[in-house]
Amino acid sequence: MSDHSISAPSPRQTGYLLTPGPITTTLSVKQAMLTDWGSWDNDFNLLTASIRQQLLALAHAEAEFSCVLLQGSGTYAVEATLATLVPRSGKLLILMNGAYGQRMAKICDYLGRDYVSLDMGDYLPPEPAEVARLLAADPAISHVAVVHCETSSGILNPVEAIAKVVKTAGRSLIIDSMSGFGALPVDARSLPFDALISSANKCLEGVPGFAFSLIRTGVLQQCAGNAHSLSLDLFDQWQYMERTGQWRYTPPTHTVAALAQALQEHTAEGGVAGRLARYRQNRDVMLAGMRQLGFRTLLEDDWLSPIIVTFFCPPPPFDFKAFYAALKQRGFIIYPGKLTAVDSFRIGCIGQVAAAQMQQLVSAVAEACQELGLSLPVPLPAHLTSSTVAQA
Ligand SMILES: *Cc1c(COP(=O)(O)O)cnc(C)c1O
Repeated sequence: MSDHSISAPSPRQTGYLLTPGPITTTLSVKQAMLTDWGSWDNDFNLLTASIRQQLLALAHAEAEFSCVLLQGSGTYAVEATLATLVPRSGKLLILMNGAYGQRMAKICDYLGRDYVSLDMGDYLPPEPAEVARLLAADPAISHVAVVHCETSSGILNPVEAIAKVVKTAGRSLIIDSMSGFGALPVDARSLPFDALISSANKCLEGVPGFAFSLIRTGVLQQCAGNAHSLSLDLFDQWQYMERTGQWRYTPPTHTVAALAQALQEHTAEGGVAGRLARYRQNRDVMLAGMRQLGFRTLLEDDWLSPIIVTFFCPPPPFDFKAFYAALKQRGFIIYPGKLTAVDSFRIGCIGQVAAAQMQQLVSAVAEACQELGLSLPVPLPAHLTSSTVAQA
């Protein structure tokens, strides 16, 4: 078991957040927000510079990439990256298997960028060979977007294999690694991509307020004038940061200080490898306990991420709202499901939780089931007992 020590939730905290972010943070990360920084002050500029450098280092991307920080949640950085990198005459292939791929299509609708999508439904992975075929058939496609861990199902997409076929086809790859970066290894020296997007408040265990994109500098230099939006123009944001060391427009100062502290704690935990090891253990402890209670996962083991896991809801009297409330009362906040066809819920493995909390969670789930009048192990959901779907 990990000896990573977890501080108890602070008095006004609702419980441990077993969600895809914002997540539970350390007391020291929260305390880092007790200073009011001047946005023009040199000490704050040094903090900004150090964060940019550390984020590049996490992806081994110091040599050929630039880190562009952007105020707002993760979606702002996804929209800004698409707007800045994909020229108005470009065309995007979106690899879609959940809500975040679908959101990129919606962004393209707003931006007026041409796109096609390979829609795999709720949870099936995109096939690299199919991607190669689509790229060969349509020379107009200039860029491909893929979600690293599609948080809506928890699937870990085959990003390495996708990157290979995109590179072979001579196109540009944009990776949404929002929910994985900091825990899922990324090595820009061997993984061919042009941009990778993430935010402060997921696996890096900072608080919400800004996101960032690691963009190949040679590509970014060609992007002047692409963006349709001033505040989302990452080329302009980058130029301004390079020139002045400051953010364009008011920076989320407290959030920046919190991430600086969170990055120190990330290093102290052993970097990406250390964090991944704890999250994997969180998942394994939680999964073993949940399975013992009769719960079934949406995905087969090979596709399960150490980020978040989707479970099918058992049949009535199970009721998600009542289940959620019973767990909240016991100090755990879980997350509703996002599947279109069947009822599900999700449990996150990220943030300041370790094996001991995951074990407490499993006990809380058992108590909640009893409170809801379910026998243990819980009965199978109806769609798993009918032979047609069981084979799917
Ligand atoms: C969280 C997340 C986002 C961004 O969501 P925000 O709510 O805007 O922070 C984008 N993509 C993925 C895969 C995510 O998990």
